[in-house]
Amino acid sequence: MTTVNMDTLNRFLFDNHPIRGEITRLEQTYQAVLDNHTYPVAVQNLLGELLVVTSLLTATLKFEGDIAVQLQGDGALSLAVVNGNDQQQLRGVARVNGEIADDATLKDMVGNGYIVITITPKNGERYQGIVGLEKDTLIGCIENYFMQSEQLPTRLFVKTGVHNNKPMAAGILLQILPANDDTAESFEHLSALTETITADELLQLSTDEILYRLYNQEQVRLFETHDITFKCGCSRQRCEDSLMTLPANEIDEILSEDGGNIDIHCDYCGKHYLFDSIDIAEIRNRHKVNYH
Ligand SMILES: [Zn+2]
Repeated sequence: MTTVNMDTLNRFLFDNHPIRGEITRLEQTYQAVLDNHTYPVAVQNLLGELLVVTSLLTATLKFEGDIAVQLQGDGALSLAVVNGNDQQQLRGVARVNGEIADDATLKDMVGNGYIVITITPKNGERYQGIVGLEKDTLIGCIENYFMQSEQLPTRLFVKTGVHNNKPMAAGILLQILPANDDTAESFEHLSALTETITADELLQLSTDEILYRLYNQEQVRLFETHDITFKCGCSRQRCEDSLMTLPANEIDEILSEDGGNIDIHCDYCGKHYLFDSIDIAEIRNRHKVNYH
């Protein structure tokens, strides 16, 4: 049995078609997002799809920066968000209030809602795109987003599942290269090929095997492998900064109520940051020194 490297992203090109591709496969990153949470099965699957979509979206960006793909609505799943960056570091979280069936659809979960995609380049202006839930699946909605924002026909093929008790999620993106004519036939042809991939194949074969399985009649150029990792950007410093935006009396109130501690919990990674009254006095002191 060959070992399959998961948590990787590859870009590829077809020599004979004006189409580019990306393939993303996740295991540990996905597991890390599910750790410390007890999400309903349908939400677990949706988070897997969101992670794959965010990785693929990030790989289409041509600059350094961050991206957030956020679903929100008035349903039992009020929020699901995945953050990624050009280093292929991902994190994600969902908020569930109420029952969600195993076979719940996107609309069953989110209700009346929409998807917000926020792209924040390190240098340059922040861009925000909003797409309605006009399609039945997250993937359909994201394909709409590509059409609206970049006017580039894009197809996404995403699968999630569990193998050897491990959650896995993987996906392929096909996109027409800008400024090309006569692309429709190539795009349809390659989309039809890609559509034949099964969940078992996409989740369990190696990237090379998948590309061979789908495109052995084509000339495919596969580029270098990028590792994908789970990384949460939370830190004690960030907690301090947000604490200092609160009114002082509010902080004092929490300190006196909660047994002398402020416990800030990160929803993404499960870390706790504890601040007692001595910490707070010290932080206030430091902020005075900084700003006066
Ligand atoms: Zn965190």
